Amino acid sequence: MDSFRTNPASDRYIDVDSDDDQDVVRQDGLYTQEFLESFELGLPPVDHARIEAATRSILEAVGEDPIRDGLLRTPGRVARMYDELLSGYRVDPQKLINDAMFDVDYSDMVIVRDIEFSSLCEHHMLPFLGHAHVAYIPNGKVVGLSKIPRIVDMFARRLQVQERMTHQIADFINEVLNPQGVAVVLEGFHMCAMIRGVKKSDSSMTTSAVLGTFATCAMTRSEFMEHLQRPRTRF
Ligand SMILES: [Zn+2]
Repeated sequence: MDSFRTNPASDRYIDVDSDDDQDVVRQDGLYTQEFLESFELGLPPVDHARIEAATRSILEAVGEDPIRDGLLRTPGRVARMYDELLSGYRVDPQKLINDAMFDVDYSDMVIVRDIEFSSLCEHHMLPFLGHAHVAYIPNGKVVGLSKIPRIVDMFARRLQVQERMTHQIADFINEVLNPQGVAVVLEGFHMCAMIRGVKKSDSSMTTSAVLGTFATCAMTRSEFMEHLQRPRTRF
């Protein structure tokens, strides 16, 4: 993951990886029931017993013997797997964000790129995975940089379509930080396209969502896009 802040006026690139000594801003009350529902959060715990029963049914339905040695513990593994891969519905956004929001008086573009994600497509329940690039222009508030990948994760660990995931990440950052603008670009490889049907193994899909100044200002948008073209720096 690369992350940096840019100052469009001077074209300086400032490393903002340090969560420095800025004051913590509490946002109690932001995460109302309506907020949780709009981001599909606060779902009940995963029912392991039902997933195990369903997995045994699938094994039988495809002609397998669910009690042969190799498969005996598969339903339990599958239940734990879905619990992990669908944990994004059960994230507490207050815990995720609130100890990491800071007041700032700058409004330089913050960019976090090459965030790895893996999700499950809701059409086939097969993985799609790739990279997310997120940018926003603060409006008095920033969030600790390590939180951006965790926001991506929160929306990846669900049954998803890539377009919706892209918009949810942008909308969430918009709601929580109320920035001047947000841009999110996702590049994803979809197993359902790669391993079945036409088997296009190298085709990736790119989706984007832009809000605020990224939507209204072509220069802001192209500044962000230019950053995505730069070779990745490695330390
Ligand atoms: Zn699919």
